[in-house]
This record gives sequence, structure tokens and C-alpha cells, in this order.
Amino acid sequence: MDLKDYIANVPDFPKKGIQFKDITPLMQDGKAFHEAVSRFVEYAKKVGADVIVGPEARGFIFGCPTATELSIGFIPVRKPGKLPRETIDLEYDLEYGSNKLSMHSDSIKPNQKVLIVDDLLATGGTVKATVDIIEKMKGKVVGIAFLIELDFLKGRDILSGYDIMSILHY
Ligand code: AMP
Repeated sequence: MDLKDYIANVPDFPKKGIQFKDITPLMQDGKAFHEAVSRFVEYAKKVGADVIVGPEARGFIFGCPTATELSIGFIPVRKPGKLPRETIDLEYDLEYGSNKLSMHSDSIKPNQKVLIVDDLLATGGTVKATVDIIEKMKGKVVGIAFLIELDFLKGRDILSGYDIMSILHY
């Protein structure tokens, strides 16, 4: 099964010049979705993850089924103001402006082996900020997994030193 058959390329969305990779056809196909999650599960076993962290919102789509399949926990990374208890927040730069991410400050235990799961690696900014929050909590990032990696954006460069697995490359 070629999972690329289930990714729709949408030119000029959400703005001109962006080739948007739409993952919803993959999610809508039970076998393709299961195959993608199986690949995340396989990688999570390989790196020995104790827990999975996924950024809002598309990190939840693959992170949650991977975690439940392995009977390990899932920890959400959210936009500020969404999590109800004490949080650790981190601001990071985007191409234009900045963004902020938030995690519950008691969510990661020291030395816990963390796998970060997200849908797509573009510039890597979101995941790098996620790595930084996890490390502030003394978690150990043992792997970072994506459904899709946009190779030409070289997101791996700001994540050098970490083990990265991407199921599909463009
Ligand atoms: P980045 O921080 O640049 O690696 O990208 C953050 C998030 O933006 C990714 O996890 C995707 O959810 C989304 N994203 C960025 N570029 C694209 C794209 N070309 N198609 C679909 N989603 C994208």
C-alpha cells in the first residue's frame, strides 16, 4: 500500500505558494489510517518510548492511537490558555511573528523516554519548541516521528542530534 496515494496536494492553501498536504483522505480510509498508525507503533517500540507527546491538533490524530495501541500515555501540547492547570509555556519564532506552546508542568517525569509525534515536518519550529519544553521538564526525547517530511525545507537541521523518522518524504 502506497500511503502517498492518500495524501491530497492542495496548491496555494492557506496562502499562495504553499503546497498544502491534506491528510484527511488517509484518515478517511480505515486500512490506510491503520497502516500509518502501525508504522508509528513500530517506531515507538524501536526507540522504547515510555510516553507520546503530540502538538495540537494534528499531532493528536496519530499520537493518540499510537499511545493506546502500546498502552502508554499521551500528552497534549496546546496553544496557551487551553490547559486548565499549571503550565510551562514557550514562545518561538515563525517566518512572520511568533507562536506560543503550552504543556502541563507535571506532565513529563524526569528521565521519561518521550516520543514526539506530529503529522508533518516543515520548518521544524513547532517540534523544536516542543523538544525544548520537554527538556525543561527533564524528559529525554528518544525520537521524533512524522507522517510527512518536506525535505526541501530542511526542518531536520534545527533538530540535529535527535532520532527522526518520517513515513513519507516530499
Ligand atoms: P513547522 O513548525 O514549520 O514544521 O510546521 C508546523 C505544522 O504546520 C506542521 O506540523 C503541519 O501541521 C503544518 N504545516 C506546515 N506546512 C504544511 C504543508 N505544506 N501542508 C500541510 N501542513 C503543513
